[in-house]
Amino acid sequence: MKINQVYLGLGSNMGDRQANLALAREGIARELGPVVALSGIYETAAWGLTSQDDFLNQVLAVDTPLGATEVLAKVLAIEQSMGRVRKVKWGARIIDIDILYYNHELITLEGLTVPHPFLQERRFVLVPLAEIAPAFVHPKLHQTNAELLANCPDTSEVLLKG
Ligand code: ADP
Ligand code: MG
Repeated sequence: MKINQVYLGLGSNMGDRQANLALAREGIARELGPVVALSGIYETAAWGLTSQDDFLNQVLAVDTPLGATEVLAKVLAIEQSMGRVRKVKWGARIIDIDILYYNHELITLEGLTVPHPFLQERRFVLVPLAEIAPAFVHPKLHQTNAELLANCPDTSEVLLKG
């Protein structure tokens, strides 16, 4: 069975944010496969819509036998099971789970773009990503995560919480 390495970006800015991340990690381990690396948990001011609570963000590396579209279906189901309601674009959320990388593949499907198209613009993704996978090369931009972080124009503060 082929094992794929997927990097997931988690974010929460509603309710018990630490508990929400923990519940998401459990669901991911159960539905996708083992979490083989995890970053620290970082706090970041909300991005896009700024008049909302701060986010906690974390990045995981997961080994999974699932294909990319199956991974997306599972993470959307985990979001739903945790009570996420999609209302406002970029609005407050109990949990957001984004696929950052799927192996080194470039995937462009309706409803799924991998690598995540904005990861290089967001310090709250790049800081935890570069913590656990500094040398991983972005298959489209051909820079490592550490280089993407060094070159990122985003200046927002991303503080390690634990
Ligand atoms: P965002 O994460 O951009 O704030 P949502 O979590 O509401 O927004 O996601 C909206 C849609 O983005 C999902 O329904 C999914 O189909 C799509 N999508 C496209 N590419 C990805 C990806 N790499 N990871 C997660 N979702 C993605
Ligand atoms: Mg999302």
